[in-house]
Amino acid sequence: MSRNYLIAGNWKMNLSPDESEKLILDIIDGCAEVSNESVDILVCPSFIHIPDVATLAAETEIFIGAQNVHSMPNGAYTGEISAQMLAEWGVNFCIVGHSERRQYFGETDGIVNAKVRILLQEMITPIVCVGETLLERKAGQQEQVVRSQLAGALHELAADQMDNLVIAYEPVWAIGTGETATSEQAQDMHAYIRSILADLYDPETAEAILILYGGSMKPENAGDLLRCPDVDGGLIGGASLQAESFLSIIQTASALTS
Ligand code: PEP
Repeated sequence: MSRNYLIAGNWKMNLSPDESEKLILDIIDGCAEVSNESVDILVCPSFIHIPDVATLAAETEIFIGAQNVHSMPNGAYTGEISAQMLAEWGVNFCIVGHSERRQYFGETDGIVNAKVRILLQEMITPIVCVGETLLERKAGQQEQVVRSQLAGALHELAADQMDNLVIAYEPVWAIGTGETATSEQAQDMHAYIRSILADLYDPETAEAILILYGGSMKPENAGDLLRCPDVDGGLIGGASLQAESFLSIIQTASALTS
């Protein structure tokens, strides 16, 4: 089964309105040269920049994502954004369970599961992040940690709901640190995640699902990571903030499919 690459930029809490506009325009320009049907491109600006970025990208194939959502449909949740609001903005994807949200905002597997459900109701594709800390890897617990995060995030979801869901393996020790998992470490964990999905669902579902790698992916290491048979793209923080490096990763993915 062939899976498209998905190259996703997580802009986090960065960029002014002008900087966001320039970045998306530069990405649009660059993508016109490298566009390839086997590579999907996604940018996840901060909430307040989504409408402008979505408008600028409206005539392109670039997908727009959010970095977070609230798990309830509406109500007295001051400061929060609902899945329905994201859908009304034309958002296609939403990151959930990012390690920064788990660490700083107490996002548990149960909350991730609730967010996945509400996103699916609005036809927004959740990107479910899982990954172990350095301590857990040093203790050899990475598989156990990732299995438990996945089981929690996907609790009582059906196989057909996996058609509209993406997993991102993001070892916490590699996020924003410049430290990258080796292609062997990434491939091992991605294959393991696929085997968990085969256990939870069935081999076809496991084979079809996109599994992104995230953690200091940059032009210098993207080729090695994207060549791994079970790595279907990248969730990219730092290197997505410069059009040049983001486009270079897109080009690498494109070259690997042609
Ligand atoms: C991320 O935040 O999802 C990420 C992978 O960041 P970075 O690429 O900067 O490590």
